Amino acid sequence: VDTRELLLSRIRDVPDHPKPGVMFKDITPLLADPVAFAALTGAFAELCVRHGATKIVGLEARGFILAAPVAVSAQVGFVPVRKAGKLPGATLRQAYELEYGTAEIEIHAEDLTPGDRVLVIDDVLATGGTAEASLELIRRAGADVAGVAVLMELAFLDGRARLEQALRGAPLEAL
Ligand code: IMP
Repeated sequence: VDTRELLLSRIRDVPDHPKPGVMFKDITPLLADPVAFAALTGAFAELCVRHGATKIVGLEARGFILAAPVAVSAQVGFVPVRKAGKLPGATLRQAYELEYGTAEIEIHAEDLTPGDRVLVIDDVLATGGTAEASLELIRRAGADVAGVAVLMELAFLDGRARLEQALRGAPLEAL
């Protein structure tokens, strides 16, 4: 079976979640299917190798679920980017703009070292704000960006354009 078709068939569209007018892309059917989850993990791991990543950053919360098995499979370290206030150690913090208001994310500075090449993994690229802020954190920690890999890109929100500068030529891969 074609991987793309398999993955698409396991993503559920949920209308009006979490609020009216939003069509939410739900990946829980994919996670519950071991063949689809393994196919996704394998595809991400291939990108990790192709782009020479030495660490994987997963974005809270669904990004954690997807990125952790990829890190094990590709034999690279996993580093969480969390919503502000959750990490116990010394952190770097980055604010970014949402449709209404701002949000803040954090990383443990010591989890990345100069010379690291980091692949960011998440389920959905929407406006690109979260991914853009995570690239900022990675660079502030002294590491390089190997790329951003997502399961889905909501192209109508133009996240790719918003990310372009922050990527500095690194790839944005949407499976
Ligand atoms: P962005 O910062 O606007 O690109 O939003 C991306 C973040 O919101 C990611 O961490 C996604 O997990 C989450 N997100 C946005 N839309 C959806 C969706 O339809 N399904 C699942 N997650 C979503």
